[in-house]
Amino acid sequence: MDKNFKEEFTQIIKFQPPLYKQRHQFVKDLVEKYKPKKVADLGCADCSLLWMLKFCSCIEVLAGLDICENVMKEKMHMLSPLPVDYLQPSERSLTITLHHGSVAYKDPCMLGFDLVTCIELIEHLEESELKKFPEVVFGFMAPSIVVISTPNSEFNPLFPRVMLHRHPDHKFEWSQAQFQSWALETARCYNYSVEFTGVGHPPTGMEKVGFCTQIGVFMRKYPQTGESVQSEKPTEAVYKTVFKAVYPSLKDEKYLQNAVISEVIFTAQIIKHRLMSKRKECSDGPERKSKFQPSMDCFSDYLGKLVVEKNMEPFVSGNEVYIPLATIFSFPKVNRLCGTFEKLCKLIAGKVTLSSDGSAVMFNIEYENEEN
Ligand code: SAH
Repeated sequence: MDKNFKEEFTQIIKFQPPLYKQRHQFVKDLVEKYKPKKVADLGCADCSLLWMLKFCSCIEVLAGLDICENVMKEKMHMLSPLPVDYLQPSERSLTITLHHGSVAYKDPCMLGFDLVTCIELIEHLEESELKKFPEVVFGFMAPSIVVISTPNSEFNPLFPRVMLHRHPDHKFEWSQAQFQSWALETARCYNYSVEFTGVGHPPTGMEKVGFCTQIGVFMRKYPQTGESVQSEKPTEAVYKTVFKAVYPSLKDEKYLQNAVISEVIFTAQIIKHRLMSKRKECSDGPERKSKFQPSMDCFSDYLGKLVVEKNMEPFVSGNEVYIPLATIFSFPKVNRLCGTFEKLCKLIAGKVTLSSDGSAVMFNIEYENEEN
Protein backbone atom coordinates (compact mmCIF):
# COMPACT_ATOMS: atom_id res chain seq x y z
CA MET A 1 0.00 0.00 0.00
CA ASP A 2 1.30 3.46 -0.88
CA LYS A 3 2.56 5.06 2.36
CA ASN A 4 1.10 8.53 1.74
CA PHE A 5 -2.23 7.05 0.70
CA LYS A 6 -2.31 4.97 3.87
CA GLU A 7 -1.43 7.91 6.09
CA GLU A 8 -4.13 10.02 4.55
CA PHE A 9 -6.74 7.40 5.41
CA THR A 10 -5.47 6.58 8.87
CA GLN A 11 -6.23 10.17 9.83
CA ILE A 12 -9.86 9.96 8.83
CA ILE A 13 -11.11 6.45 9.58
CA LYS A 14 -13.89 6.98 12.03
CA PHE A 15 -17.13 5.09 11.63
CA GLN A 16 -20.43 6.83 11.94
CA PRO A 17 -22.42 5.31 13.64
CA PRO A 18 -19.64 3.68 15.68
CA LEU A 19 -18.74 0.18 14.55
CA TYR A 20 -20.17 -1.61 17.60
CA LYS A 21 -23.51 0.08 16.94
CA GLN A 22 -23.39 -1.00 13.29
CA ARG A 23 -22.76 -4.60 14.41
CA HIS A 24 -25.68 -4.50 16.83
CA GLN A 25 -27.92 -2.88 14.21
CA PHE A 26 -26.95 -5.69 11.81
CA VAL A 27 -28.22 -8.25 14.35
CA LYS A 28 -31.39 -6.24 14.97
CA ASP A 29 -32.13 -6.10 11.24
CA LEU A 30 -31.65 -9.85 11.04
CA VAL A 31 -34.07 -10.35 13.95
CA GLU A 32 -36.62 -8.13 12.24
CA LYS A 33 -36.20 -10.13 9.03
CA TYR A 34 -36.37 -13.69 10.43
CA LYS A 35 -38.43 -13.01 13.58
CA PRO A 36 -36.79 -15.57 15.91
CA LYS A 37 -38.61 -16.16 19.22
CA LYS A 38 -35.58 -17.30 21.18
CA VAL A 39 -32.25 -15.53 20.88
CA ALA A 40 -28.97 -16.23 22.71
CA ASP A 41 -26.02 -13.83 22.69
CA LEU A 42 -22.73 -15.58 23.42
CA GLY A 43 -19.99 -13.34 24.82
CA CYS A 44 -22.67 -10.79 25.69
CA ALA A 45 -20.25 -8.60 27.73
CA ASP A 46 -22.14 -5.59 29.15
CA CYS A 47 -25.49 -6.80 27.72
CA SER A 48 -25.87 -3.83 25.37
CA LEU A 49 -26.96 -6.01 22.43
CA LEU A 50 -29.42 -7.88 24.65
CA TRP A 51 -30.86 -4.55 25.81
CA MET A 52 -31.38 -3.48 22.21
CA LEU A 53 -33.01 -6.79 21.34
CA LYS A 54 -35.49 -6.74 24.22
CA PHE A 55 -37.48 -4.17 22.22
CA CYS A 56 -37.94 -6.56 19.27
CA SER A 57 -41.53 -7.67 19.71
CA CYS A 58 -41.01 -11.13 18.16
CA ILE A 59 -38.56 -12.20 20.88
CA GLU A 60 -39.97 -14.12 23.86
CA VAL A 61 -36.77 -15.57 25.28
CA LEU A 62 -33.43 -13.77 25.46
CA ALA A 63 -30.31 -15.28 27.00
CA GLY A 64 -26.81 -13.98 27.47
CA LEU A 65 -23.65 -15.92 28.23
CA ASP A 66 -20.23 -14.61 29.20
CA ILE A 67 -17.16 -15.99 30.89
CA CYS A 68 -16.72 -12.74 32.80
CA GLU A 69 -19.42 -12.39 35.46
CA ASN A 70 -18.43 -8.84 36.42
CA VAL A 71 -18.75 -7.37 32.94
CA MET A 72 -22.25 -8.89 32.62
CA LYS A 73 -23.30 -7.52 36.00
CA GLU A 74 -22.17 -3.95 35.20
CA LYS A 75 -25.38 -2.96 33.43
CA MET A 76 -27.63 -5.99 33.80
CA HIS A 77 -30.19 -3.90 35.73
CA MET A 78 -31.04 -2.37 32.32
CA LEU A 79 -32.64 -5.69 31.47
CA SER A 80 -35.16 -5.54 34.34
CA PRO A 81 -38.78 -4.58 33.67
CA LEU A 82 -39.67 -0.90 34.22
CA PRO A 83 -42.72 0.37 36.17
CA VAL A 84 -44.46 1.05 32.85
CA ASP A 85 -44.12 -2.65 31.94
CA TYR A 86 -46.27 -3.43 35.00
CA LEU A 87 -48.75 -0.62 34.31
CA GLN A 88 -49.24 -1.74 30.72
CA PRO A 89 -48.24 -5.40 30.42
CA SER A 90 -47.33 -6.42 26.92
CA GLU A 91 -49.23 -9.02 24.89
CA ARG A 92 -46.03 -11.01 24.35
CA SER A 93 -44.20 -12.85 27.09
CA LEU A 94 -40.52 -12.08 27.62
CA THR A 95 -37.96 -13.81 29.82
CA ILE A 96 -34.36 -12.60 29.97
CA THR A 97 -31.67 -14.76 31.57
CA LEU A 98 -27.93 -14.25 31.98
CA HIS A 99 -25.55 -17.15 32.47
CA HIS A 100 -21.97 -17.24 33.59
CA GLY A 101 -19.92 -19.83 31.72
CA SER A 102 -17.82 -20.64 28.69
CA VAL A 103 -18.85 -21.35 25.10
CA ALA A 104 -16.42 -24.25 25.26
CA TYR A 105 -18.95 -26.17 27.40
CA LYS A 106 -22.43 -27.48 26.68
CA ASP A 107 -25.29 -26.63 29.01
CA PRO A 108 -28.95 -27.66 28.45
CA CYS A 109 -30.10 -24.07 29.15
CA MET A 110 -28.68 -23.19 25.74
CA LEU A 111 -30.97 -25.58 23.84
CA GLY A 112 -33.99 -24.58 21.77
CA PHE A 113 -32.77 -21.21 20.47
CA ASP A 114 -33.68 -19.96 16.99
CA LEU A 115 -30.86 -17.46 16.66
CA VAL A 116 -27.41 -17.45 18.30
CA THR A 117 -25.20 -14.38 18.00
CA CYS A 118 -21.44 -14.36 18.59
CA ILE A 119 -20.41 -10.74 18.07
CA GLU A 120 -16.66 -10.17 18.32
CA LEU A 121 -16.33 -13.33 20.43
CA ILE A 122 -14.24 -15.92 18.59
CA GLU A 123 -11.06 -13.82 18.50
CA HIS A 124 -11.14 -13.84 22.35
CA LEU A 125 -11.07 -17.65 22.51
CA GLU A 126 -7.99 -19.66 23.36
CA GLU A 127 -7.02 -22.26 20.75
CA SER A 128 -8.51 -25.10 22.83
CA GLU A 129 -11.80 -23.15 23.27
CA LEU A 130 -12.01 -22.29 19.59
CA LYS A 131 -11.66 -26.01 18.79
CA LYS A 132 -14.66 -26.89 20.98
CA PHE A 133 -16.78 -23.88 19.91
CA PRO A 134 -18.26 -25.32 16.65
CA GLU A 135 -19.45 -28.52 18.37
CA VAL A 136 -21.11 -26.51 21.18
CA VAL A 137 -22.80 -23.94 18.94
CA PHE A 138 -23.52 -25.82 15.70
CA GLY A 139 -23.59 -29.41 16.96
CA PHE A 140 -25.25 -29.05 20.39
CA MET A 141 -27.23 -25.79 20.37
CA ALA A 142 -27.97 -26.18 16.65
CA PRO A 143 -30.14 -23.05 16.19
CA SER A 144 -31.61 -22.28 12.78
CA ILE A 145 -29.38 -19.17 12.45
CA VAL A 146 -25.90 -18.36 13.82
CA VAL A 147 -24.23 -14.97 13.32
CA ILE A 148 -20.49 -14.69 13.89
CA SER A 149 -18.58 -11.43 13.58
CA THR A 150 -14.83 -10.94 13.95
CA PRO A 151 -12.24 -8.29 12.98
CA ASN A 152 -10.91 -8.40 9.44
CA SER A 153 -7.12 -8.16 9.81
CA GLU A 154 -6.76 -6.82 6.24
CA PHE A 155 -8.35 -3.59 7.43
CA ASN A 156 -5.82 -3.09 10.26
CA PRO A 157 -3.15 -1.24 8.23
CA LEU A 158 -5.71 1.57 7.90
CA PHE A 159 -5.64 2.13 11.65
CA PRO A 160 -2.60 4.16 12.71
CA ARG A 161 -2.13 2.71 16.17
CA VAL A 162 -2.91 -0.96 15.54
CA MET A 163 0.34 -2.89 15.63
CA LEU A 164 -0.62 -6.57 15.91
CA HIS A 165 -4.26 -6.78 17.09
CA ARG A 166 -7.04 -4.27 17.66
CA HIS A 167 -7.48 -5.34 21.30
CA PRO A 168 -4.93 -6.78 23.77
CA ASP A 169 -7.25 -9.71 24.63
CA HIS A 170 -7.55 -10.85 20.99
CA LYS A 171 -5.86 -14.21 20.53
CA PHE A 172 -5.85 -13.83 16.73
CA GLU A 173 -7.32 -11.69 13.96
CA TRP A 174 -8.15 -13.33 10.66
CA SER A 175 -7.96 -12.17 7.07
CA GLN A 176 -11.07 -12.63 4.96
CA ALA A 177 -9.67 -15.85 3.48
CA GLN A 178 -8.85 -17.27 6.95
CA PHE A 179 -12.30 -16.51 8.37
CA GLN A 180 -14.08 -17.78 5.29
CA SER A 181 -12.19 -21.05 5.17
CA TRP A 182 -12.88 -21.69 8.91
CA ALA A 183 -16.56 -20.76 8.46
CA LEU A 184 -17.05 -22.86 5.31
CA GLU A 185 -15.47 -25.90 6.95
CA THR A 186 -17.60 -25.44 10.09
CA ALA A 187 -20.75 -25.04 7.99
CA ARG A 188 -19.92 -28.16 5.95
CA CYS A 189 -19.26 -30.22 9.10
CA TYR A 190 -22.54 -29.30 10.80
CA ASN A 191 -24.81 -29.10 7.75
CA TYR A 192 -25.21 -25.31 7.61
CA SER A 193 -24.87 -22.87 4.73
CA VAL A 194 -22.95 -19.64 5.26
CA GLU A 195 -22.97 -16.21 3.62
CA PHE A 196 -20.39 -13.51 4.19
CA THR A 197 -20.93 -9.83 4.68
CA GLY A 198 -19.76 -7.16 7.13
CA VAL A 199 -20.03 -3.67 8.54
CA GLY A 200 -17.64 -0.74 8.39
CA HIS A 201 -17.07 0.07 4.72
CA PRO A 202 -13.50 0.57 3.52
CA PRO A 203 -12.67 4.01 2.08
CA THR A 204 -13.20 4.60 -1.63
CA GLY A 205 -10.34 3.16 -3.59
CA MET A 206 -9.54 0.65 -0.82
CA GLU A 207 -12.45 -1.74 -1.43
CA LYS A 208 -10.11 -4.73 -1.66
CA VAL A 209 -9.42 -4.71 2.08
CA GLY A 210 -13.09 -5.57 2.73
CA PHE A 211 -15.31 -4.62 5.68
CA CYS A 212 -13.69 -3.60 8.95
CA THR A 213 -15.83 -6.23 10.76
CA GLN A 214 -16.41 -9.42 8.82
CA ILE A 215 -19.63 -11.33 9.44
CA GLY A 216 -20.75 -14.86 8.62
CA VAL A 217 -24.48 -15.66 8.68
CA PHE A 218 -25.01 -19.41 9.00
CA MET A 219 -28.33 -21.09 8.18
CA ARG A 220 -29.13 -24.61 9.35
CA LYS A 221 -29.98 -26.78 6.36
CA TYR A 222 -32.10 -29.35 8.21
CA PRO A 223 -35.33 -28.88 10.19
CA GLN A 224 -35.34 -29.46 13.93
CA THR A 225 -37.96 -29.08 16.63
CA GLY A 226 -37.27 -27.79 20.11
CA GLU A 227 -38.55 -30.96 21.78
CA SER A 228 -36.37 -33.36 19.83
CA VAL A 229 -33.29 -31.27 20.70
CA GLN A 230 -34.09 -31.43 24.41
CA SER A 231 -34.76 -35.14 24.59
CA GLU A 232 -31.86 -36.26 22.41
CA LYS A 233 -29.19 -34.30 24.20
CA PRO A 234 -29.11 -34.91 27.93
CA THR A 235 -26.27 -32.93 29.53
CA GLU A 236 -25.54 -31.63 32.97
CA ALA A 237 -25.96 -27.96 33.81
CA VAL A 238 -22.56 -26.25 34.04
CA TYR A 239 -23.46 -22.58 33.71
CA LYS A 240 -24.44 -20.42 36.67
CA THR A 241 -27.55 -18.28 36.22
CA VAL A 242 -26.75 -14.77 37.43
CA PHE A 243 -29.89 -12.90 36.37
CA LYS A 244 -33.46 -13.72 35.43
CA ALA A 245 -36.31 -11.34 34.61
CA VAL A 246 -39.81 -12.45 33.70
CA TYR A 247 -41.68 -9.50 32.17
CA PRO A 248 -45.33 -8.94 33.04
CA SER A 249 -47.40 -10.20 30.14
CA LEU A 250 -51.07 -10.50 29.29
CA LYS A 251 -50.36 -14.20 28.67
CA ASP A 252 -50.20 -14.41 32.47
CA GLU A 253 -53.79 -14.69 33.77
CA LYS A 254 -53.01 -12.40 36.73
CA TYR A 255 -52.06 -9.45 34.47
CA LEU A 256 -54.77 -10.26 31.94
CA GLN A 257 -57.41 -10.14 34.68
CA ASN A 258 -56.27 -6.69 35.85
CA ALA A 259 -56.24 -5.36 32.29
CA VAL A 260 -59.71 -6.75 31.55
CA ILE A 261 -61.22 -5.38 34.77
CA SER A 262 -59.84 -1.87 34.06
CA GLU A 263 -61.01 -1.98 30.46
CA VAL A 264 -64.50 -3.23 31.40
CA ILE A 265 -64.95 -0.49 34.02
CA PHE A 266 -63.59 2.16 31.66
CA THR A 267 -65.88 1.07 28.81
CA ALA A 268 -68.91 0.80 31.11
CA GLN A 269 -68.22 4.31 32.48
CA ILE A 270 -68.15 5.77 28.96
CA ILE A 271 -71.43 4.07 28.07
CA LYS A 272 -72.99 5.24 31.32
CA HIS A 273 -71.78 8.79 30.75
CA ARG A 274 -73.31 8.81 27.27
CA LEU A 275 -76.58 7.42 28.55
CA MET A 276 -76.82 10.00 31.33
CA SER A 277 -75.98 12.85 28.96
CA LYS A 278 -78.66 11.68 26.57
CA ARG A 279 -81.24 11.57 29.35
CA LYS A 280 -80.24 15.04 30.45
CA GLU A 281 -80.43 16.26 26.88
CA CYS A 282 -83.99 14.97 26.62
CA SER A 283 -85.05 16.64 29.86
CA ASP A 284 -83.27 19.95 29.02
CA GLY A 285 -84.63 20.23 25.52
CA PRO A 286 -82.95 20.29 22.07
CA GLU A 287 -81.01 23.57 22.48
CA ARG A 288 -78.37 21.80 24.66
CA LYS A 289 -77.43 19.39 21.90
CA SER A 290 -74.66 21.51 20.35
CA LYS A 291 -72.61 21.21 23.52
CA PHE A 292 -71.76 17.53 22.88
CA GLN A 293 -68.26 16.77 21.79
CA PRO A 294 -67.77 15.20 18.36
CA SER A 295 -65.94 12.17 19.78
CA MET A 296 -68.94 11.36 21.92
CA ASP A 297 -71.19 11.61 18.87
CA CYS A 298 -69.08 9.01 17.06
CA PHE A 299 -69.32 6.84 20.11
CA SER A 300 -73.06 7.45 20.20
CA ASP A 301 -73.39 6.31 16.56
CA TYR A 302 -71.53 3.11 17.38
CA LEU A 303 -73.63 2.50 20.45
CA GLY A 304 -76.81 3.31 18.54
CA LYS A 305 -75.95 0.67 15.94
CA LEU A 306 -75.36 -1.93 18.61
CA VAL A 307 -78.60 -1.15 20.34
CA VAL A 308 -80.61 -1.38 17.14
CA GLU A 309 -78.81 -4.42 15.78
CA LYS A 310 -78.40 -6.50 18.86
CA ASN A 311 -80.77 -5.09 21.40
CA MET A 312 -78.04 -4.52 23.98
CA GLU A 313 -79.32 -1.25 25.33
CA PRO A 314 -78.03 0.09 28.65
CA PHE A 315 -80.84 1.26 30.91
CA VAL A 316 -81.58 3.03 34.17
CA SER A 317 -83.76 1.50 36.84
CA GLY A 318 -84.26 3.50 40.04
CA ASN A 319 -80.83 4.52 41.25
CA GLU A 320 -79.02 1.90 39.17
CA VAL A 321 -77.58 2.02 35.67
CA TYR A 322 -77.19 -1.33 33.89
CA ILE A 323 -74.66 -1.79 31.11
CA PRO A 324 -75.08 -5.20 29.46
CA LEU A 325 -71.86 -7.24 29.41
CA ALA A 326 -72.66 -8.20 25.81
CA THR A 327 -72.39 -4.50 24.87
CA ILE A 328 -69.09 -4.14 26.70
CA PHE A 329 -67.79 -7.34 25.07
CA SER A 330 -68.51 -5.96 21.62
CA PHE A 331 -65.96 -3.18 22.14
CA PRO A 332 -62.77 -4.08 20.21
CA LYS A 333 -60.29 -3.79 23.04
CA VAL A 334 -62.34 -5.86 25.52
CA ASN A 335 -63.07 -8.36 22.77
CA ARG A 336 -59.39 -8.74 21.84
CA LEU A 337 -58.27 -9.08 25.45
CA CYS A 338 -60.84 -11.76 26.36
CA GLY A 339 -61.37 -13.66 23.13
CA THR A 340 -64.66 -15.21 24.29
CA PHE A 341 -67.67 -13.94 26.22
CA GLU A 342 -67.26 -16.81 28.69
CA LYS A 343 -63.68 -15.73 29.41
CA LEU A 344 -64.85 -12.15 30.04
CA CYS A 345 -67.40 -13.40 32.57
CA LYS A 346 -64.82 -15.62 34.26
CA LEU A 347 -62.20 -12.86 34.54
CA ILE A 348 -64.48 -10.24 36.08
CA ALA A 349 -66.46 -12.58 38.35
CA GLY A 350 -66.40 -11.21 41.90
CA LYS A 351 -64.31 -8.19 40.82
CA VAL A 352 -66.92 -5.96 39.17
CA THR A 353 -70.44 -5.25 40.54
CA LEU A 354 -72.94 -7.04 38.31
CA SER A 355 -76.72 -7.24 38.11
CA SER A 356 -78.29 -10.17 39.99
CA ASP A 357 -78.43 -12.34 36.85
CA GLY A 358 -74.79 -11.45 36.04
CA SER A 359 -75.61 -10.09 32.59
CA ALA A 360 -74.82 -6.39 33.16
CA VAL A 361 -72.36 -4.13 34.95
CA MET A 362 -74.25 -2.12 37.53
CA PHE A 363 -73.54 1.43 38.78
CA ASN A 364 -75.35 3.21 41.57
CA ILE A 365 -76.09 6.80 40.54
CA GLU A 366 -77.91 7.95 43.65
CA TYR A 367 -75.27 10.56 44.51
CA GLU A 368 -74.37 11.58 40.99
CA ASN A 369 -75.38 14.98 39.63
CA GLU A 370 -76.05 16.11 43.18
CA GLU A 371 -75.22 19.67 42.18
CA ASN A 372 -78.43 19.65 40.13
N1 SAH B 1 -20.35 -9.25 22.14
C1 SAH B 1 -19.96 -8.01 22.75
C2 SAH B 1 -18.52 -7.87 23.13
C3 SAH B 1 -17.60 -8.95 22.85
S1 SAH B 1 -16.04 -8.83 23.68
C4 SAH B 1 -20.35 -6.86 21.85
O1 SAH B 1 -20.93 -7.07 20.82
O2 SAH B 1 -20.09 -5.72 22.20
C5 SAH B 1 -15.88 -10.55 23.98
C6 SAH B 1 -16.60 -11.08 25.17
O3 SAH B 1 -16.49 -12.48 25.15
C7 SAH B 1 -16.04 -10.59 26.50
O4 SAH B 1 -17.06 -10.06 27.29
C8 SAH B 1 -15.46 -11.86 27.11
O5 SAH B 1 -15.58 -11.90 28.52
C9 SAH B 1 -16.29 -12.94 26.46
N2 SAH B 1 -15.64 -14.26 26.40
C10 SAH B 1 -14.33 -14.54 26.21
N3 SAH B 1 -14.14 -15.86 26.23
C11 SAH B 1 -15.33 -16.45 26.44
C12 SAH B 1 -15.77 -17.79 26.57
N4 SAH B 1 -14.92 -18.82 26.49
N5 SAH B 1 -17.08 -18.01 26.78
C13 SAH B 1 -17.95 -16.98 26.87
N6 SAH B 1 -17.58 -15.70 26.77
C14 SAH B 1 -16.30 -15.43 26.54
